[in-house]
Amino acid sequence: MDAGPAADTGIANLQPADGEHPVDQLKMVIFDLDDTLAPSKTAIDPSMAGLLLRLLEKVDVCIISGARFEQYQGQVLEPLGDSDALRGLHLMPTCGTRYYRWQDHSWTQIYAQDLTADQKDEIIDALTRGAKALGLWESDTWGPVIEDRGSQITFSALGQSAPIDAKRQWDPNGTKKEELRADVAAQLPDLEVRGGGSTSVDVTRKGIDKAYGVAHLQQQLNLSLSQLLFVGDRLDEGGNDYPVKALGVECVPVASWLDTAAFIDDLLVRLANR
Ligand SMILES: [Mg+2]
Repeated sequence: MDAGPAADTGIANLQPADGEHPVDQLKMVIFDLDDTLAPSKTAIDPSMAGLLLRLLEKVDVCIISGARFEQYQGQVLEPLGDSDALRGLHLMPTCGTRYYRWQDHSWTQIYAQDLTADQKDEIIDALTRGAKALGLWESDTWGPVIEDRGSQITFSALGQSAPIDAKRQWDPNGTKKEELRADVAAQLPDLEVRGGGSTSVDVTRKGIDKAYGVAHLQQQLNLSLSQLLFVGDRLDEGGNDYPVKALGVECVPVASWLDTAAFIDDLLVRLANR
């Protein structure tokens, strides 16, 4: 092979432009949910629903999030409605410890990998004991403080439905949350204890993050890394999307759903031309 300057130029011309992922092998686009497809805990815009349905005509789509399936319903599934295109949509709530597909016009659970009853009891005890010992057990709350999400137990200091302002005031620099995280992590060395939202601590089995979900999906569908593309708002190191990048999946960072909408628009043009 001629390795001279002319050959180099020829190869360079086959490469995608800066920041663009080659789409010839693309089989699936995986999206984070909160702050990627919609602002946190709000429904996707009708224009985003339209873009996702158009994308589903070209490739499979997966939505992976730490949120529960119930949160997906109002945020994504109701706006998407009932369409045959949904057969290509893969839902991975709670970081892929649950997996749902669209079958016979309804969402069907393919698997759920929940904590055992003993693990749940142990976690609830540890969170309760830790919060009380540290003086972080509040009596004035908005909804339950401890929530069983099947594969994850979540402690929310002010309750699941606390207003954002109250949450910000409770622990402005995150020290209370970190104290509780460290205390519970010491009590539960065989489980993963992470800081979640502004006032919350999540406990799961070890190794449950978005990379866990994506690896399962790859296995289930026999897909290679080069056939996947991931879009998320927290791809920074320490962000909850970072494990997918570390797994080796090509990633597209976004700052909000508007970036994601622009990305899908552009991707649809490139997929139409492949
Ligand atoms: Mg996000």
